[in-house]
Amino acid sequence: MRTIAVKDIVKAVRDMCIHANRFQPADVRKCLKEGGAREDSPAAKEVFRQISENIDLAEKTGLPLCQDTGLAVFFVEIGQDVHVDGNLTEAINEGTRQGYGEGYLRKSACDPFTRKNTGDNTPAVIHYDVVPGEKLRIAFMAKGGGAENMSRVTMLAPAAGWDGVKNFVLTRVAESRSNPCPPIFIGIGIGGTFEHSAKLAKLALMRRVDDINPDPDLAAKEAELLALVNRLNIGPMGLGGRQTAIALKMNVSPCHIASLPLAVNIQCHSSRHEEVTL
Ligand code: SF4
Repeated sequence: MRTIAVKDIVKAVRDMCIHANRFQPADVRKCLKEGGAREDSPAAKEVFRQISENIDLAEKTGLPLCQDTGLAVFFVEIGQDVHVDGNLTEAINEGTRQGYGEGYLRKSACDPFTRKNTGDNTPAVIHYDVVPGEKLRIAFMAKGGGAENMSRVTMLAPAAGWDGVKNFVLTRVAESRSNPCPPIFIGIGIGGTFEHSAKLAKLALMRRVDDINPDPDLAAKEAELLALVNRLNIGPMGLGGRQTAIALKMNVSPCHIASLPLAVNIQCHSSRHEEVTL
């Protein structure tokens, strides 16, 4: 049994919240920096130029990439041989509190009815998985409201199949237009139950842009659907163009014989996520 100190968890989460809101993952950054070269229209090229400039400014000034620094979402894998010398959930929330406070990041968490801000961007949304081993892996995502609002879960008829999935995803992206600040990243969860499909979809957004699905059938489906999305000509910031989406990733799990759960989680071009292993 290995013991991990709460203070180390708080510091790691604090640092991740601040760093991820200033520096995007290298794979995301590369796609956004090079995106203009893949566009024909001056408007689309200009949007990519501005996104690239914004990335540079965030790096240079330490200001966040976007004013919407998101709700704090965490995927935590805790090894079954790990002992935390305190309350793990409280430690993650304290790290979030410190990161958003000391990093001068906007606090976006509020009561759903009164709309009163909680003041420190907590509580964080935390998903836990117990895994073998003696490590603690914490993945963080800053999830902005514009893109999250365009996400949906639906329960398709079992016979809807792949055509039904494609139809729902394409309709969702088409209806979203410029609202999620494209070019977007699309996470799709298929199967499980209502809530599990949503978790699968959000987890898919953590995958690297250049990651190829190890299942050849799913890899082909991801490529097919990404190409169809990019034929919608919504383009960067909805001004038309080849790249409505940069990446589309699917996670699939067995489901009930009477169900076909489907979740589409949309992430904006300001895709910000990071992970740490303690
Ligand atoms: S959707 Fe993303 S890029 Fe647009 S305002 Fe929200 S966080 Fe910023």
